[in-house]
Amino acid sequence: MKYKANRGRASTIPKPGQLKCHCGRPAVLRSAEGICKTHRPGAMVYVCSDYPACNSFVMAHSDTLAPMGSLAGPELRRLRYEAHQEFDRLYKTGLMTRNEAYRWLSYIVQAPMSHAHIGHLGEYYCRMVIRESRKLLSQKLGSEMALAKAAGGEYYAAAH
Ligand SMILES: [Zn+2]
Repeated sequence: MKYKANRGRASTIPKPGQLKCHCGRPAVLRSAEGICKTHRPGAMVYVCSDYPACNSFVMAHSDTLAPMGSLAGPELRRLRYEAHQEFDRLYKTGLMTRNEAYRWLSYIVQAPMSHAHIGHLGEYYCRMVIRESRKLLSQKLGSEMALAKAAGGEYYAAAH
């Protein structure tokens, strides 16, 4: 059975005031200009209406304008970024396919595939994804090549 990786493209844009910051204030959709450094031209963000006093935002999908997750302050943004870097390595290194990686993420964060996105994670699960991704990579990459040749390792076989 083929699993389709859901990339978190919720089809609906939240109504004004519907998306709330963790501080309880409503989020507002505005240009990422001056808020987020790593944005593409024309990018939009949902930012706390108390910004910059409350330094929290989340990027919007460029096509649907749906939020990519929940609003996050600096520490959580840093953790999500790091979690994404580590998670992406799982399939960029060929350890597993992208779909397998998202299935693994769904298992790790105990959420269905449709909700297993790093943009939705809090600090606890970000740290878990970072730790578990690193563990998997260090466990597998060292011995995987030799093992795969001898026994046809599952991940290796699936990814190649
Ligand atoms: Zn806020």
